[in-house]
Amino acid sequence: MQENAAAAGRLLPSRSMSTSTQTSTASARSTVSSHRPGVTQAWSLTLIPTTREAPNDAEVPSHVLLHRAGFIRQVGAGIYDYLPLAWRTLNKISDIVREEMSGADAAEMLMPALEPFELFNGTKRHETYGDNLFRVTDRKGRLNALAPTHEEVITQLMLGCVSSYKQLPLTLYQIQTKFRDEARPRAGLLRCREFIMKDAYSFHMNVEGPGGLNEAYDKMYTAYSNIFKRCGLDFTAVEAESGPIGGSASHEFMVNCASGEDTVLKCPVSGYAANVEKCEIGARPKGTLTEAPSGELTEVHTPNLPGIEEVGKFMKVKPDRMLKTVVFAVPGESGRWIVAVVRGDHEVNEGKVKALAGVGAVELAPVDAAKKAGFAVGYVSPRVVNTVPGVLMLIDADASLGGFWASGADKADHHVKHFNWRREVGAALDDKSKVIVGDVRNAVEGDPSPRAEGAKLVTGRGIEVGHIFKLGTKYSDAMGFAILDEKQGKRSVIMGCYGVGVSRAMAAAVEQNHDENGILWPAAIAPYHVLITIMKPEDAGHRKAAGDLAKALNAEGIDVLIDDRDERAGVKFKDADLTGIPVRLTVGDKALEAGGVEFKLRKDVAGKGEVVAMGQVLPRALAALNA
Ligand code: ATP
Ligand code: MG
Repeated sequence: MQENAAAAGRLLPSRSMSTSTQTSTASARSTVSSHRPGVTQAWSLTLIPTTREAPNDAEVPSHVLLHRAGFIRQVGAGIYDYLPLAWRTLNKISDIVREEMSGADAAEMLMPALEPFELFNGTKRHETYGDNLFRVTDRKGRLNALAPTHEEVITQLMLGCVSSYKQLPLTLYQIQTKFRDEARPRAGLLRCREFIMKDAYSFHMNVEGPGGLNEAYDKMYTAYSNIFKRCGLDFTAVEAESGPIGGSASHEFMVNCASGEDTVLKCPVSGYAANVEKCEIGARPKGTLTEAPSGELTEVHTPNLPGIEEVGKFMKVKPDRMLKTVVFAVPGESGRWIVAVVRGDHEVNEGKVKALAGVGAVELAPVDAAKKAGFAVGYVSPRVVNTVPGVLMLIDADASLGGFWASGADKADHHVKHFNWRREVGAALDDKSKVIVGDVRNAVEGDPSPRAEGAKLVTGRGIEVGHIFKLGTKYSDAMGFAILDEKQGKRSVIMGCYGVGVSRAMAAAVEQNHDENGILWPAAIAPYHVLITIMKPEDAGHRKAAGDLAKALNAEGIDVLIDDRDERAGVKFKDADLTGIPVRLTVGDKALEAGGVEFKLRKDVAGKGEVVAMGQVLPRALAALNA
């Protein structure tokens, strides 16, 4: 992957690479210089409330460790304080994001978090967001929302400022707090109700060609790859479902991590990777739907069994020999039903249902309406294609094979054994307007790869830290944002949108970089690069040695935290492990007598420190941090 110039992979700017004229005065340097000096912070003068106690509800390491290391404190469900260490890391991530956004020709701005509800009139996004949207009524009784993202706000802004193709393309972004009333805020910063996001929006007259959406999207893809690489994250860019836009491209950037909520599938041969909503499956054998019955159709009474698992156990049938029949409605088309049939151990994939049925949207059939239409909800069998009018049945390839099948019995509390496609469904199977066999399920481990013959998909878990979308004209159409093109005609503006979960990325970094003693920050986003622990803070010689070292390190852009607390050495070292600053220097009598300090890396915490001469500390630290 090609990298932006800004992302040359260097952690710290070095004087030799600086393009501005170097001067020796600090004041000149702080006015105009590409060289940013590091900072020094005394531990005693900041707030780092380390603790042994993990939060009661903690489910994942990042939640435990960010709390224990004094980075975050919970204010309410899914609402957190970012303490000084966290704020420094968040700013470092934001700085990387800014450099890469610049590299992708995006300009920074800031929009309000509070948005008048009328902005949703055109897009109706308050309906799509549903309860996730925070609603705020003001003193005049007017409804506002706390923004979950800013498509409407920015489209409105552009509507007022841009009237001609000559003003495009344009990409704008902000780093800002977002609000979503998540049903289940969990896992500390990974899923919050208030969180920090970078959101960018691009505007174009064309999809293809110079200045078009595809060009901006590719630049963003590169920028995102650079951002997560520079943050020290191990990630996979996966093809993703593009949501309500349909057809357009979308990629998610997933931090590879067992505690991730998202399932990712990869083909080890072709490199194809997709999230489970999007993942295609390679060619699979289909049944002929003429296979002979395995036995006589037998009804079984199965009361009070909540799921397929329980029904299977009760009937002594494995889930992979059961047919799961899911009924969908087509929004806005009452009386039209799409019934998807998959094996009991598989999951129906809504996106694939839509694609195979050739409809723009589906929703799980509302129970009342489905019952009224004649579906025995919870006990539906494929026979409904003959008994309920308006049904299109989609059979997943694996469910279309012959052999023994158990299925619902189309009456409450009953299932059947020895279901046979031909005997039970008959001629409808040959009517292409009623029955289609294809792919309507989520891919699973071991499925054939869609991109390399003979290869099998493998699954992994991921944390979504970024998402890029080709929006097309969804928002501009909904909000009437059309401008003059080269031929003086009016055309809807084509848009893209691009999000990074800044606060989630910090937590994801901890998920990937920790041990039993604490965090191991990747150097580029560590709150400080070097921790100097003073063994005897009351000793002026110790304090001076620490101060001198810090100054020398700062001059080369290294950020230093000095643990000057009057605490036992054991406490300080435990806190050093917890907070995870990559390079550790200890100022003590023995090392000072030998003309140096003890030098240790957080990642080698089990090993013994080594005494390094004062003059060697800077090159050693730089080498470790830039490694
Ligand atoms: P998810 O699927 O995890 O709910 P999303 O797809 O709804 O996220 P987007 O609308 O794509 O999220 O938002 C862009 C980025 O913002 C996401 O890639 C993610 O990193 C981050 N993000 C979204 N929701 C949250 C949240 N509740 N807490 C923290 N970060 C979030
Ligand atoms: Mg997303």
